[in-house]
Formats: sequence, C-alpha cells, structure tokens
Amino acid sequence: MTKLLEVKDLNFHYGEIHALKGISLDVYEGEIVTLIGGNGAGKTTTLRSISGLIGNITSGEIRFMGERIDGLKPHKIASLGIAQCLEGRHIFGNLTVRENLDMGSYLRKDSKVKEDLDYVYNLFPRLLEREKQRAGTLSGGEQQMLAVGRALMQRPKLIMMDEPSLGLAPIIIQGIFEIIKQINKDGTPVLLVEQNSHAALQIADRGYVIETGEIVLKDSAQNLMRNEKIKDSYLGAS
Ligand code: ATP
Repeated sequence: MTKLLEVKDLNFHYGEIHALKGISLDVYEGEIVTLIGGNGAGKTTTLRSISGLIGNITSGEIRFMGERIDGLKPHKIASLGIAQCLEGRHIFGNLTVRENLDMGSYLRKDSKVKEDLDYVYNLFPRLLEREKQRAGTLSGGEQQMLAVGRALMQRPKLIMMDEPSLGLAPIIIQGIFEIIKQINKDGTPVLLVEQNSHAALQIADRGYVIETGEIVLKDSAQNLMRNEKIKDSYLGAS
C-alpha cells in the first residue's frame, strides 16, 4: 500500500503550552484512519497542523505523497489534495447550499466539477432538495452534510474530518458515518478525528489514541475496540 500522509515526531506549541509532543501517524491509500481522544487531547491541533491552519509547527515533519508540506500555506496544501471538514462545520450561512458547494470547487481547473456535484447530490439528496436555500437555515445534520459535500467538491486525495458527530443526534450520526464509509469505498482515504470513539472505530481500518498531546496506542480498529483500556476510558456506555 502507498503511504499518502506521514506525520513524524510532530511538536506544536501554543505559546508556552506544549500541545503536541511528538505525534507520529500515517495514512495509506484506501484507508479510514481515526484519531480518537478526549477533550483537549490535541486532535484538532494535529489536523490543523497538517492543513497548515495554525502556522509553523515547532518541529517534526509532515509529508503528503512523499513531499514535505509543513511550512506550506493552507491553500497550497489544499491544492495538493487535502480537504478538511472543520470542527463546528464552518459553512457560509448567508450563501445558498449550491454556492457553498461551489466554494469547494472554485480553485479547480479540470472538467469533472459537474460530475462531482452530481456525486455529492447523489450521496446527499437532501442537499439537492435544498440547493437554493440559505445554508444558515439548515439543520445541524444537514450543515454537516454540506461541510462534507463542500470538501468532496475539491476532489481531494485525502479528506480530513474533525468531529463530524459533534452536536448531532445519534440517528443522524449513524447516517453521517455510513456516508463516510461510502466515500471511502468510492476511493477517498479518510483521516477522522473523533471523541465518539465507538462510532469512529466501527468504520475505521486503524486507529490512534491521543492523550495530552501524545499517541498512547495505535492498532487496528478491531483490536482497539477489544482493548480493555479503550473500553474503560473511551467506549464507556456506548
Ligand atoms: P476538542 O475535542 O475539545 O477540540 P482536541 O483534542 O481537539 O479537543 P485541541 O483543541 O487540539 O484538542 O487542544 C489541545 C491543547 O491545546 C489543549 O490543551 C488546548 O487547551 C490547547 N489549545 C488549543 N487551542 C489553543 C489556542 N488557540 N491557544 C492556546 N491553547 C490552545
């Protein structure tokens, strides 16, 4: 399998706060990889380091398809094929559903944009129904669909998702995770950050567990689900 993303010994500081303490993780072609951990463990910081959204890392290396990407600007990293669905969704509430989707593809110069729009509407028929509606009036679940749809409109080589289950009802979460699985089956590798460890491990191939800025466990998703420590600390009542 080809290694798509390689994070090696990544350190990041917010001023005095040492938020990431030597994170290493890989994503290979075809995989769903999940990074699970509690509140404030460093999940979002890891994703934002990869997408270049928080400025310079302290030390370490981030490679995408063999090329160093740490230090590059976010738009350059996006143009190499990494799309990120941000925590809290960050859609444009005053724009319509369609305009939000068009924002995802506006940097593209290829001829497959219409094909991808059809693909997104096929995955999320609700977005087609609401194409002309202002995005701010959508439900939480629909906004999450739109955030995923917009990322797909970049035709990414890797899609990174930050807590897609945040604030959604269990039935909606199930639907979103089924869609993530489908997107992966259709050919897009996924790096999925989640506090909802149970849902994430159910669809992932492999997982990493992060605690206070360090990877404390990595294994196949199946093994992690059977791991007693994970069951006690993360799978709880779910
Ligand atoms: P959550 O699920 O709550 O978003 P997380 O695992 O994504 O948690 P991060 O948001 O990456 O965790 O935070 C990692 C650490 O860095 C935490 O201790 C947090 O308080 C700190 N941190 C995050 N953002 C900032 C910031 N802008 N300035 C200072 N410290 C920050």
